[in-house]
Amino acid sequence: MVEKIYVTYNDVHKLCQEAGPKILSTFQPQLMIAIGGGGYVPARILRSFLKQEGGPNIPIQAIGLSLYESLPHITGSTEVEVPGTKVTRTQWLDLSSLGQMENLVGKNILIVDEVDDTRTTLDYAVKELEKDVEAARIRMGLPESEKTKFGIWVLHNKDKAKKGSLPTDMMEDGRYMAARTVGDVWICYPWEATDIDEHDRLAAEARKNGNPTSA
Ligand code: 5GP
Repeated sequence: MVEKIYVTYNDVHKLCQEAGPKILSTFQPQLMIAIGGGGYVPARILRSFLKQEGGPNIPIQAIGLSLYESLPHITGSTEVEVPGTKVTRTQWLDLSSLGQMENLVGKNILIVDEVDDTRTTLDYAVKELEKDVEAARIRMGLPESEKTKFGIWVLHNKDKAKKGSLPTDMMEDGRYMAARTVGDVWICYPWEATDIDEHDRLAAEARKNGNPTSA
């Protein structure tokens, strides 16, 4: 059976609190892009810890991605979709509030998600966002030095073989950040719980037994 770990809202809040100063010292994001639905709550909490005195709140944009792979249906040629390797966009950047894509050129943009599992989703998000902003940079006739910088912050990275990959310079420059690295376990986040009291009880029980979820 896959081991489950239960993460509470307080755990998430504290991981964001811990990450804020680190992110500010290494990356100073000007915009966050939350990958839905798991990235929404962490991005909003993180924003409170990225706010600098007298400075503006960092805007949060939401994109929706879901992961499917097509498999031949067992009984015939119809294809069924199961979680896997093909990412579909369900929502993309809202240019009515961002203005044109040109506004993102040269900026530091932090992509936020809850978990990096096979890395397929993050791989897709970075490649597609880079494609859009690079096209805008080229339209503007700006040099490579004006490239938009993307960073990633996730609550949990699973230490396992990844199907997706991220740009080497992002990894080398420390622009990939995970609050915690865990094994190949199943993480239960509080926003998915239908019974939050039971969820918190299971988290407390694990903690009592020496399995703290956020350590
Ligand atoms: P990927 O495999 O592309 O890195 O992750 C795809 C998505 O699968 C994640 O954004 C998340 O929604 C979901 N996922 C992967 N592992 C877990 C997990 O341990 N717990 C939960 N709740 N969702 C997960």
